[in-house]
Amino acid sequence: MSTGYGRILSDNPIILSNNYSLDAGTNLNRYLTSDTTFITNNQFLEDACDNSNLPVTNCIKVREDKDSISALQNSDKKWAYDTASAEWLQVQTFGHMMQITDKFHSTLTSSFVKKGSIGYQSAFPTFFMDALNPNPHGHWDMTRPLTANAFCKEADRAFFNPSKFLICLGFDSEETSVKFAQDNTVIYHEMGHAFHQVLMNGRNRDAGVTPASDLGYLFYDEAGSIGEGLADFWSFIMNQRTHFAEWGLGRFIQQSRPMDEDDPLHAPGIAANSDSRLSYPTYLLYDPNFPDKPIEDVHYAGQIISHFMVALVKDLTSKCSWAQTASTEVVMHLLYETFLELGDLTASGNTGQTNYVNLTQNHALTWNRVANPVNFRKFTQVLSKYLLLTYGKAGRTGCGGTNYDMDGYEQLLDSYGLLLFKNYNEDGGSLASGNSGTNTVVTASNKVKTVTVSKDLIKIDPTQGASEAFIFDDRQSMVAALNSLKVSGQIPGISDQIEDGLPYNNGNISISPGEFVGVALNLYNDSNTPMAGVQVLGNDWDHGKDGEPCGTFEDNFPTANEGAADVSTETGTNPGECSYITRENGDDAGESIEPVCMVQVSENNATKWAFQNELMTKIGLDDSNCLDGSGGNDKECFIRIVEGADQSTYSKLDPKKTWAQTVSGGDTPEFNFNNLMFMEVSPWIPPGTTFNCRLRVRFTNCEDCWSDPNTITNPTGDDYLDYEYAGGRPFKIINFEFIVID
Ligand SMILES: [Zn+2]
Repeated sequence: MSTGYGRILSDNPIILSNNYSLDAGTNLNRYLTSDTTFITNNQFLEDACDNSNLPVTNCIKVREDKDSISALQNSDKKWAYDTASAEWLQVQTFGHMMQITDKFHSTLTSSFVKKGSIGYQSAFPTFFMDALNPNPHGHWDMTRPLTANAFCKEADRAFFNPSKFLICLGFDSEETSVKFAQDNTVIYHEMGHAFHQVLMNGRNRDAGVTPASDLGYLFYDEAGSIGEGLADFWSFIMNQRTHFAEWGLGRFIQQSRPMDEDDPLHAPGIAANSDSRLSYPTYLLYDPNFPDKPIEDVHYAGQIISHFMVALVKDLTSKCSWAQTASTEVVMHLLYETFLELGDLTASGNTGQTNYVNLTQNHALTWNRVANPVNFRKFTQVLSKYLLLTYGKAGRTGCGGTNYDMDGYEQLLDSYGLLLFKNYNEDGGSLASGNSGTNTVVTASNKVKTVTVSKDLIKIDPTQGASEAFIFDDRQSMVAALNSLKVSGQIPGISDQIEDGLPYNNGNISISPGEFVGVALNLYNDSNTPMAGVQVLGNDWDHGKDGEPCGTFEDNFPTANEGAADVSTETGTNPGECSYITRENGDDAGESIEPVCMVQVSENNATKWAFQNELMTKIGLDDSNCLDGSGGNDKECFIRIVEGADQSTYSKLDPKKTWAQTVSGGDTPEFNFNNLMFMEVSPWIPPGTTFNCRLRVRFTNCEDCWSDPNTITNPTGDDYLDYEYAGGRPFKIINFEFIVID
């Protein structure tokens, strides 16, 4: 063995043995590479950043588990170990981390070069190139190495933790000798998540903006699903195989995932032709290992994206006469652009632009997280835009001497149910130029399988006796929920008006003073096609004027008699008016945004709806006793939806069904934290007080939630501008009314 070298497994044991029934206890030494593989010339399993501008020395580090402080050390630098040893797991992990990192860097470099030679409006920050040449890791986390625990003592878990920039590779619970690190494709998947994090924050690091973009939050949302599908795709990138984790996840715990419709694991009826693709939203809850059991899980929902990406690679290969590896690199280039733009918190999104994505720098995180987050529509629209700009436009010659066939591409996207946008939105979401630039329109006749539904058809379950919402207020679950939200960094904490340990949480399934509660609207799909990517927003929006609620939205609530602001002299052009939506989420002069929950107060022997500061005044509560504390926003004095836990998501509502009926076939469903939004309830609320929260609801395959349905003023179907998501128009407004009782 030469210095610096070792032996690793070039693929997972199932593939190397060509035995899909391989025993758990098989001696894996026999499948090691016969040639040695370069590991490192360091005496630790660490890779230097080679960039003196960074405050961190090493960019990659592998150790056994969290208790090991340092990376594995071998002063001889000879990295040959028995595959049964913990040392070998670390060498194997490090070797594959280095191989995929090399692929990541080399394709970043080649994409950067292609960007220059093709010439189009790109999201690549220039520092990517400065950092890459000659210093490879300049755009990484910059403050700490990407660390992998190669023998993590966690059963059935392998994960990437973005807040720690850490990968954990656990073991199979069924056969504990089977470790995830033995399966290189699992390492690639987790590394994919790390690259997504790096890319989503690439423009942020370049601009000195705190890197805070994540692809998805707790449990289920579409951004998280897309992240999982693309993480699987990283395995394909490395080995061009359309199945992931046959050994680590497939063999003993039945969790491996295909990326091609012709895979034998798939249920009957799925095939790689335009009628039988793994289409959205039909297959969102489909687990090929247990096809009869619907499951709301990001990994399985993500299969739609991994299958689409592989199908795109194959389409490019055949239409442009490229090698499949070359097509894969083109798709990686598109992915880099897409991530860089979507995660941009400077709001520029793109070279030479201002407020092109995510509204403004002040509010970019809110737009990225809740107001206009990554979903199947947005992701495919941005990816498609870059495909159009680089290879698809008339005059491009990169695809076998001509331009790539975008018409065929739209048909492919449609066969996946993903032709959800009406144009490629090259002009972005900026107020200044978002509706004035070039916009290539999708050919309407290509939309055949993709089904969109009017937002009007989502509503509270109209069934007699059905509840308006599910309330979760038992102490044990809410303590656990609060803890998860804090540990994940999703919320910083809650009001100190709510006592530690939640002693007032009484589990009576109603909202009582002093509680911390979870709320899930009981939504119903009143159409004949599935609705998917349902999102309920409880964040602040522009629905007030001079301290009174506006009654000018589609719900016509409240009326003038019920306390609505006077709009009789409005022109729609002056900031402050109900009919004028804030351009900068309340930062613009004369504008503000308001919390969603209003309260009923009595005035002159009648009742009216008001913001919560009126109740504070009425009962003479000192504002230091408000949930927001003294000097905080008194309009959320009594009921506050916690920022960061202010939206709930549902994968899918089948036709004429609720979410519960969709995911559980009528049994009581298991709610996850993503299904709830969380509310603090002040102990100072007089029992019997009525509140109304004006929640905004929409879904991904919605006809009129993402672009203006008025085709007379908007013939190209251009998207709503970013600022419009601070208003009511893109949403179905659902009023959630409840009485606080002891
Ligand atoms: Zn994953």
